[in-house]
Amino acid sequence: MPRATCVTVSLSAVRHNLSRVRDLAPAAMRWAVVKADAYGHGLEGLLPAFALADGLALVEFDRASWLRKQGWRGPILMLEGAFDPADVEQARREGLSLVVHEPRQIGWLASGPALSPIDVFLKLNSGMNRLGFKPEDFPLAWSRLRGLPQCGALNLMAHFANADLPGGADTALAAFDRVTASLPGGQSLANSAAIFVLPAAHRHWVRPGIMLYGSSPFADRRASELGLRAAMRFHTRLISVQTLQPGEAVGYGSTFIAQSVMRIGIAACGYADGYPRHAPTGTPVAVGGVRTRTLGRVSMDMLALDLTPIRAAQVGSEVELWGDTIPVDEVAASAGTIAYELTCGIAPRVKRIYIDDGHQA
Ligand SMILES: *Cc1c(COP(=O)(O)O)cnc(C)c1O
Repeated sequence: MPRATCVTVSLSAVRHNLSRVRDLAPAAMRWAVVKADAYGHGLEGLLPAFALADGLALVEFDRASWLRKQGWRGPILMLEGAFDPADVEQARREGLSLVVHEPRQIGWLASGPALSPIDVFLKLNSGMNRLGFKPEDFPLAWSRLRGLPQCGALNLMAHFANADLPGGADTALAAFDRVTASLPGGQSLANSAAIFVLPAAHRHWVRPGIMLYGSSPFADRRASELGLRAAMRFHTRLISVQTLQPGEAVGYGSTFIAQSVMRIGIAACGYADGYPRHAPTGTPVAVGGVRTRTLGRVSMDMLALDLTPIRAAQVGSEVELWGDTIPVDEVAASAGTIAYELTCGIAPRVKRIYIDDGHQA
């Protein structure tokens, strides 16, 4: 029998979350952000759920080719643009849209053939200081591109560093509007956080990522309050039950010591499956649908759980690491990280099951 450690990914949850984007930004086109294998959910299994998106956005050129082979004919946006001239050639061949954030990328475009022009999203560095042209350099980059027969539609974009904080994107949005005031072209600014809190930034294209997978982009607001449904359920089973006497410990380093007699369960999931090793004692987990907590250090293949609130638990009982009962955001907060890192970190050895309206897809 295979190890029970699985993720179950719900296509209906992703469709629901995509419809939330429509509710919040009804006039905007939607780039579904599917980089990093759809934030670790598995793009292959999830692709049918993205049928209603207006375009797909990612950073991996091999995946973009794969999407075309799968029959995705809609727009594809490469969020980091081309990494070399061959990528520009591929973009031309496969009809990919390119972010241009750097002068070299303009040079590569200019040196290619002028047939089948490439749609561009010219990126402004609005204060995050990762990618993009500074405000003072932006107009010249725009003019250079507009003068190139190799450049098709010329759109304008920026990415917010702090859209999840109150007023956190105001300065960046003002900078974008100042620099682009006299420039034509479609605009794209909003990530998940801005889709929720900054309607002024919705513009022509929004770029939802994390919200499609059902996690909250905000540290202080639950996904359920935002009307999102968890796309991923990470689950396993108990493979051992132990009774600890007062003073007995569990796991490496003996960091958890029982104060009284207690039943504990050992779940078949550890950091080699993608469960965060830094999750301390007390991280929420559910056994048979009932909330409890982890105990001691996370091992490579195992995790200890407190069975005190779950009398009926036994070897074979179902354990939810995160999903519908335990929001992945709570586990992430406990482990000092964010849901993005946890879902992206599911290990290859974990089996993936795709369900659609409760049925296996
Ligand atoms: C990843 C990414 C997004 C999506 O961000 P979320 O916070 O997941 O919604 C949007 N835009 C760009 C440029 C990105 O790289």
